[in-house]
This record gives sequence, structure tokens and C-alpha cells, in this order.
Amino acid sequence: MSSLQTLDIAARSATTVQPPDARHRPQVQEVAKLIDVSACIGCKACQVACMQWNDLRDEVGVTTGTYNNPNDLTPDSWTVMRFAEVEPEPGHLEWLIRKDGCMHCEDPGCLKSCPAPGAIVKYSNGIVDFISEHCVGCGNCVTGCPFDVPRISKTDNRAYKCSLCSDRVTVGLEPACVKACPTGAIHFGTKEAMHQYADERIVDLKERGFKNAGTYDPAGVGGTHVMYVLQHADRPGLYSNLPKDPHISPLVSLWKGVAKPLAVLAMVGTVVGSFFHYMKVGPVEAKEGASDEDEDGHGVKAEINEAPPAPGAPPPSSVPPVRTVHDPAAPPPRV
Ligand code: SF4
Repeated sequence: MSSLQTLDIAARSATTVQPPDARHRPQVQEVAKLIDVSACIGCKACQVACMQWNDLRDEVGVTTGTYNNPNDLTPDSWTVMRFAEVEPEPGHLEWLIRKDGCMHCEDPGCLKSCPAPGAIVKYSNGIVDFISEHCVGCGNCVTGCPFDVPRISKTDNRAYKCSLCSDRVTVGLEPACVKACPTGAIHFGTKEAMHQYADERIVDLKERGFKNAGTYDPAGVGGTHVMYVLQHADRPGLYSNLPKDPHISPLVSLWKGVAKPLAVLAMVGTVVGSFFHYMKVGPVEAKEGASDEDEDGHGVKAEINEAPPAPGAPPPSSVPPVRTVHDPAAPPPRV
């Protein structure tokens, strides 16, 4: 929810025109955060640093029998450590800890599905940011996100998520979580440099017996600007249901791909058709002499088709009851 002035904008929600900065400054390098799951000890220093830097104070929740705390992402907890005890091979128990949060997709479903102009932006360096003052709280970003990340605040009815500390990045600092991590499990730099570092880690992990170690940078969303090094990259679901092949919902793609241009086409067709009809037929005018009078110049009366009441039948209920009124000028009644 940082300021619009801090970085060049490459894409803006509910806007089809490319912002001028992105057209004129294509040299901006793409950045990425790399989370090496194999080096994470689950200390949650990154969670604390995120709350401290972004001035967030979540409510004290309840324990759910895991080390997750809070148990899920919230409007005030933009990153959460998810702990999973798994048995990838029979008899071989592993504790896999994943730092969850926004993945900063290259093709963000949240931005595509957002109907509020400028409420979600993607900067030239790849960071996807929510500009909360433009958010209308419709929740479309929640359904558009393939990673189930945005959360709507009950306090101000706006969507919130990790900003990848865009305010720090724009002045040359790393995100707060990267700064705080005591084991060096989180790295930040250009996307290219992060891929190179990930490759080195994968060589090391393979030597240690993790033959399926690899980088998580899913192509279904065009790649992400938050990547993981996973010991079991062939089964990302082991890491608290990290999706194997995330995609933007077909409904969002349908709206942006086919339905929206068709709707615009229909609107344009209506306007053009009305114009030609006007040019050909002219304006609609009231007929001369048209009035509420008939041909003889008499006013037209409404036709009443009600049948007369049968003799001796009680008056209809809509007729007001007869009231006796005392008339002082009338002669006294005879006794
Ligand atoms: Fe948007 Fe979800 Fe991708 Fe983050 S992970 S950029 S919220 S679609």
C-alpha cells in the first residue's frame, strides 16, 4: 500500500492503456525474493520484521495444535510460517517450513480480476502492490489469486497483502524479512541473480540426497517474483499445499480475454446503430392533433365494465358506510 510515486508502473488494474513511465524506461531490472526452505528454522523473525516495518498489529488468536501463529494470513499478517510434518518416503519424517505470502506473479490474477482503476499495480521491477485508497473491497482479487493470498479487512473493507516492501526496495534496501532472517534463508536481488543462487543451492541439496530438489517459479502465472528452493520440487503440495501448477481462474481469463471486448463491441454497436437510425428516420415527434379527445372533440371517458349490483345485495365493501348527520334546520321528528 505504498505511494504511487515510488516506482515505475508497468500495469494498473482496470486500465488498458500502458502507463508512460513503463514505455520510456524499459531498462528497469526485475527483482525477486528467494526463500530457501532447506535453510529455514521457523524462528518467525521474518514475520515479526514484516509487522514491525509495516506497522501491523494483529489480534492475539488461539492455538490450533500447530506452530502456525497466526494460523492463516490476515489483513494484519502479510506473511505466515506454515509448519508441515510429512513423510515423503515411508519411514522418513521431515519437518517442512514454508514462509507463505504474496508470490508477486508476473501475470497477477489479482490485478486482472480487479475492477477498480489503479487499486492494484505492477511495477516495472515485478512487484505487485495494492493501493488501498483505490480499493472498493469487492473481493475479486481474492478469487483471482491462485495462491489464496489477499485478505479483506473487516475494519475498512479493503484488501491487504505483502508489498515486498516496495517502499524499501525503491530506495535500495532489501525487504524487511530478508534483513531480519538470521540463517540467510531469504535472499533478495535481481531475478537472474536469484536463479543463479538457487541453482547453486540445488547442486548442494542433490549432493545431500534430495534428488528432486529444484526452484519453484511456476510458469502458469508467468513466473513469480517470490521463488522457493524446495527439497522436493516435484511435490510442492508437501509444503502446506503449495500449488503444483497455479493458473489464473478461467473465469477471469474469459472476462479479460473474450467477454470484455465483446461487451465493448456490443456497446459500440448500439451507439453506432442509434446514430444511423437517427440520421435516417430523424427524431421522434408527437403526432399533430393527438390529444385525449375523440374525433368529435369530446373527452374520452374510461369505459366501466362493472355489472350493476343485484337487487337486495349488500353494498360493495369499497362504498363508505352511510352516516346520520344532525341538521339543526330540519323539523323535529314526530313522536
Ligand atoms: Fe496477486 Fe496472488 Fe499473485 Fe500475489 S500471489 S501477485 S495476490 S495473484
